[in-house]
Amino acid sequence: MNGTTDQTRHQDRVWSVAEHLDDVLSKIDPLDPIELQLLDAQGCVLVEDITVPVALPPFDNSSMDGYAVRAADVADATESAPAVLTVIGDVAAGSGELPGIEPGQAVRIMTGAPMPPGADAVVPVEWTDGGTGQGPAATMRAHSAAPQDAGGEVRVHRPAAAGAHIRARGSDVTEGEPALRAGTVLGPSQIGLLAAIGRGTVRVHPRPRVVVLSTGSELVQPGEALGPGQIHDSNSFQLTAAARDAGAIAYRVGAVADDAETLRSTLEDQLIRADILVTSGGVSVGAYDVVKETLAALSAEEGTVEFRRLAMQPGKPQGFGLIGPDRIPLLALPGNPVSSYVSFELFVRPAIRALMGLPEVHRPTTPAKCTEAVASSPKGKRQFLRGSYDAEAGTVTPVGGAGSHLIKAMAHANALIIVPEDTTEVPAGAEVDIVLLG
Ligand code: AMP
Ligand code: MG
Repeated sequence: MNGTTDQTRHQDRVWSVAEHLDDVLSKIDPLDPIELQLLDAQGCVLVEDITVPVALPPFDNSSMDGYAVRAADVADATESAPAVLTVIGDVAAGSGELPGIEPGQAVRIMTGAPMPPGADAVVPVEWTDGGTGQGPAATMRAHSAAPQDAGGEVRVHRPAAAGAHIRARGSDVTEGEPALRAGTVLGPSQIGLLAAIGRGTVRVHPRPRVVVLSTGSELVQPGEALGPGQIHDSNSFQLTAAARDAGAIAYRVGAVADDAETLRSTLEDQLIRADILVTSGGVSVGAYDVVKETLAALSAEEGTVEFRRLAMQPGKPQGFGLIGPDRIPLLALPGNPVSSYVSFELFVRPAIRALMGLPEVHRPTTPAKCTEAVASSPKGKRQFLRGSYDAEAGTVTPVGGAGSHLIKAMAHANALIIVPEDTTEVPAGAEVDIVLLG
């Protein structure tokens, strides 16, 4: 029972929400970077500055379907006196061989196709007869058809200035230019840019692997019938979903009976695949509070988990420590479903996001007008009530009561209403801070 004296001392004092959170975050560093395939890196934080290896676009190309021409040849073109050019060939996107253009000539060109040498403008197909000798309707049809015969003619009805409808080489990015800085969170368009400049893999902080296990001999897997005194294990599902939502790769172990040996061996087995461990239940002062009994009594070699009381409701009892040879963070959350979920949102989600190296680890908060009065909020505790937030009206309405077993109310809430430590009642219409659950 190493650490008993320490444990006793910590139990003596009550921690504020902020103190507990600070303690958790102070012991968590971003995971070591790894090289990931682009799509596996989505949502992750880049750890390297990325420089552009080749310009984008890599070559001058057409921004329209039309004709590559010499601007001088079409300078005087009008509706009634079109410039008539000889079409010497076709260039599609991906064409490697490009015909050179002499005065009086044009090449039919498609969007994204490289500009042929000699051409300095593109005339959109809509400004021509499409090589049909007919009006614009036939023009569009003709353009999408098979290659135009070389030697045919195209009538151009409007002039195009030099450079018109050309996307110049390097107009997007140039060689050697910074593309993305270390610290960037990779969303869809950042991944698109990386792919565009030819990066197949990137170095990022990986998503943490979160192992979720619930404890309680009363717990039965959903889908199975309940015997006397049993309830379905909802926490392990809720917490696993919440871990995924926070950005983690989550493994749900499911319910472990209130038995010290089973808990010990399960944790030992799970350590191998965990960057962070989350347990629910068994952290209060009851006779079968096996998580607390087991983890408070680890040997120095096995790790240290402290159990403390927080000035918070719900979620008063919390455990936090580092266990196993790699000192994996473990957060032991209370068992009541609302308590465990609120605790997750306040402490585990930031821990997961800190492991990912994300710049913003907390849920956003915002002020809102509380539509109903809140009576008798516990003095000295920060209370988190479930609320339904109406962003348009800027109001929040409490959902259900303060009971930490009210699973349905939680499911119908989209915010947590914060009632500060020294506030014991909130009059209807008063402003409160709320945590947006997204
Ligand atoms: P405990 O913290 O283990 O004393 O549990 C507190 C309350 O939460 C008890 O009523 C438990 O039955 C309930 N509880 C604990 N774990 C779960 C779970 N995984 N799913 C649903 N309810 C739970
Ligand atoms: Mg229990």
